[in-house]
Amino acid sequence: WVIAQKSSSTADSVYRNDPPEELGADKARVRVVVRVRPMNSRELERNDRAIIQMENDCSLMVQGAQHNRRFTFDSVFQSDSTQEDIFQNSGIKRLVDMSIEGYITTCFAYGQTGSGKTHTMIGPGGASVFRMDENYRIKHFGLVPRAINYLFQRLREKSQENHSPYYIRVSYCEIYNEQIHDLINPAHTQGLQIRGSVEDGFYVENLFQTYIETMDELLTILEEGELNRAMASHNLNDTSSRSHAMLSIQVEQDITESENSAEQMTRQGKLIFVDLAGKILVQQIFHEKTSPIFHSTGSEKVKVSLSKGKQLIETNNINKSLLTLGTCISALSDPVKRAGHIPYRDSKLTRLLADSLGGHGITLMLACVSPSHSCESETLSTLRYANRAKNIENAPIVKTDSKENVINRLKREVRKLKDENYEL
Ligand code: ADP
Ligand code: MG
Repeated sequence: WVIAQKSSSTADSVYRNDPPEELGADKARVRVVVRVRPMNSRELERNDRAIIQMENDCSLMVQGAQHNRRFTFDSVFQSDSTQEDIFQNSGIKRLVDMSIEGYITTCFAYGQTGSGKTHTMIGPGGASVFRMDENYRIKHFGLVPRAINYLFQRLREKSQENHSPYYIRVSYCEIYNEQIHDLINPAHTQGLQIRGSVEDGFYVENLFQTYIETMDELLTILEEGELNRAMASHNLNDTSSRSHAMLSIQVEQDITESENSAEQMTRQGKLIFVDLAGKILVQQIFHEKTSPIFHSTGSEKVKVSLSKGKQLIETNNINKSLLTLGTCISALSDPVKRAGHIPYRDSKLTRLLADSLGGHGITLMLACVSPSHSCESETLSTLRYANRAKNIENAPIVKTDSKENVINRLKREVRKLKDENYEL
């Protein structure tokens, strides 16, 4: 299980272990960055007008049909920004560092279908980036493969510094139609349920988790998971997935609490990546009587045939998770509502993100937008949510468990898998 002992000569010399941004004693705000993608060929052919003007590294102006609106974030990335720019300057490295320190960290991509979420998280075309040659991959890999590379680089350095091995455990699932599917082992997906509580944290029961030892193993899991993601065609973007995908990388390290304590503890940090499904507004669809329905939300045009009942359910459920996410973000960003009930339990997505939003984690939100005037209302909606998310306060804590507990839990899992005669 020991992470590769080879020494790394590529140590990141400018590495600093920033403490969480201090708000009060132990609070950290959700960090929010925005990436504007370039115009796509369709937008260019139509001669669409670019409505987003960068003001500086942190603020942008949306020049709307009616009026202009300025937004300020932790960082904004222009349409010519590279994958490496995003990796270096989005704050993702800090998340990786904090996951090694034992924090639960989350990076989630939010935005309209076709706005660049998968491109930014995985790379162009999602799974297809893995099929390209090495030079292409180095240039075009998204945040997740870059973060994985950085994680292994840091772990090599750290395990040499403190002579204590790290263990990496991975799971990968998607939420599709409010059902959870295992992306590592899709055959083993029936009826996965969420257990736990807001206080103790939610988890997916029986979700396959595997220990991995090398970066390549982890990248292979990522590639296979991307291939397994349920794809359903969408009128605007055939390659966009309609599922929310969640990759969870658990970083475990055995520690001794104090010099004279005999009890061995295990520190369990986590690095979670969530690639959300695109936003599709369905409320108006149900007001229409005719079929097929063609409606415009001012920007994203959605064509849905009523005869495809399944598609309507899918859209509705995807929206249920996204709508609940929006409701939670709104409530958490409001100093008064924050103290009240937050409806995490209303969707699978928000239950699994409970620690990331207003909980004990450290979170980075990556909002993706199109520059085109044809997407104005969707872009404004994404930026408004992103703007609210800036106000969400988390209270990060390091989670430890006694080594005995961890071993017992793993033994139970192994026994259960044996009982199910389960083979990978
Ligand atoms: P989403 O996951 O938000 O639905 P995608 O990531 O699939 O959107 O992006 C839609 C298309 O736009 C893809 O072909 C993708 O490669 C392209 N694209 C997105 N962002 C960028 C970018 N920053 N630079 C170049 N192409 C991009
Ligand atoms: Mg996508």
